[in-house]
Amino acid sequence: MKVKVAVNGYGTIGKRVADAVLKQDDMELIGVAKTRPNYEAFVAVQKRIPLYVPSGKEKDFEEKGLRVSGTIEELISRADVVVDATPSGVGAANKELYVKHGVKAIFQGGEKPNVAEVSFSSLCNYDEALGKSYVRVVSCNTTGILRALCTLNRYIGLEKARVFIVRRGADPKERDKGPINSVVLDPPKLPSHHGKDVLTVLRGIDILTAAVAVPTTLMHTHFVHLKLKHNASREDVLSAFSQTRRIMMVDSSILDAKSTSEIIEVARDLGRPRYDIPELIVWLDSITVNGDEVSFIQSVHQEAIVVPENIDAIRAVTSIESTAEASIRKTDESLGIGRWI
Ligand code: NAD
Repeated sequence: MKVKVAVNGYGTIGKRVADAVLKQDDMELIGVAKTRPNYEAFVAVQKRIPLYVPSGKEKDFEEKGLRVSGTIEELISRADVVVDATPSGVGAANKELYVKHGVKAIFQGGEKPNVAEVSFSSLCNYDEALGKSYVRVVSCNTTGILRALCTLNRYIGLEKARVFIVRRGADPKERDKGPINSVVLDPPKLPSHHGKDVLTVLRGIDILTAAVAVPTTLMHTHFVHLKLKHNASREDVLSAFSQTRRIMMVDSSILDAKSTSEIIEVARDLGRPRYDIPELIVWLDSITVNGDEVSFIQSVHQEAIVVPENIDAIRAVTSIESTAEASIRKTDESLGIGRWI
């Protein structure tokens, strides 16, 4: 029997997770929840995805020609798992509803870690989420950092991490957000919260992160500097990264490309849905190894990177796949991860 999945919050992350659920043969998307009858609700209806709204708001949607299938509470009561992709903080407020209906829930990185039993990243701690009721998929930046760190920790061993984050100022649709003409220290003190978030998943390493926000909407970019547990060669690092399809090494000299805009253009030109890049992009030419120190630059498509992790989290909480390898393989194959087309 397929796992019945509801998506609460059909925005940047929710609509991508919903589309990914539709591609899984062991899951069924039973509906999505929207609070506002906006263009995203229109998209769900156009895609024939059942739309659920707050009780008493049905008329607001129906008046705009948006067919409503029921209330959000009805949707939750019918689900095995709800993916909560509502704005930061709303997920925690929604938890009461999930508890009331005994439904498992996957929260997003905008929520505080204590909303869930486990903070989650597929390559790091799938096992810890097995059979749990409440799991939080960490944020886009943290997911990007953890993909690289857990891979090198697994294949070589990791002691210390220093990561400088150049964060996109807003998502492309966010008409009211900036910065427009500034580099904003985010925050002005060190460290940024990302390191602490990494430690909720990968414990026991020495990590310091710093971040600035810049006027771009396409991707984040990180400068990563690591100390390994012992000396390694560049080949060891390349070999570790090539073990997972969730990391894509991009050769800037072959592509004659050295920017996030060009990488996004590749995804556009190759017809990827929404030009999404759920893989972590590691810039091959930047990978530098000196004894036990490794440095490289990586880029994160913030709108897409957490999508495969949400699909794995659904498998983990329902225990329909008992190993990370099996779930990751299924997710990657269904979403075409690791190959450009
Ligand atoms: P979003 O604003 O694009 O989407 C949120 C959706 O939830 C909207 O459709 C909104 O109308 C709806 N909504 C608002 N209140 C609601 C409620 N009470 N019940 C149901 N739906 C409600 O937000 P997003 O960018 O998709 O972020 C969602 C979560 O994912 C946040 O925790 C965020 O931190 C996290 N996240 C975002 C990104 C990103 O780059 N956008 C990346 C990774 C993680």
